[in-house]
Amino acid sequence: MPVYFLLTEAHGPDRIKIGRAKSVEARRRALQTGNPDLLKLVGYIKSKDDVRLEADLHREFHDKRGDLGEWFHLEPADILPVLQRFHGAAFVGKTSNAFAITGHDKDGIPEFVGVWEWGDLSHEDCCPFCGCLGGLHFQEASWMYHCLACDALTNFEEDESEPPEA
Ligand SMILES: [Zn+2]
Repeated sequence: MPVYFLLTEAHGPDRIKIGRAKSVEARRRALQTGNPDLLKLVGYIKSKDDVRLEADLHREFHDKRGDLGEWFHLEPADILPVLQRFHGAAFVGKTSNAFAITGHDKDGIPEFVGVWEWGDLSHEDCCPFCGCLGGLHFQEASWMYHCLACDALTNFEEDESEPPEA
């Protein structure tokens, strides 16, 4: 079951809830109900040993613990290194426009709006399709970039929106 990190930015310093849920999105929606402050998904870690992982993380951030249950005085920047520790099992909460391309680097690789709202992650750090911190790997055989988590395969060519010339 995933261990998730949910952020609320309202009322002063950021607070992040570290908890477990079978469906992270369903849990986010349930917690959002009746809550005037927007809850945002920072990320989650898929774990078979989620009870222990959650307990370990609660212990790790013990001194940041607020007075409200599983809410900690943490920011997304504190959570990123935790997610990166779990590499291919960790996912960031994607921005809704993660696919939008802002430009291209010197190798012709597009630069995205940003997969993650709170920091810059390159396609090698993070898959723009599923948010996996395993990132995209260049696959010699297909000459494309591949994500081991969602199996996305891309050569970063932009969609041809115009019809082909006759
Ligand atoms: Zn992926």
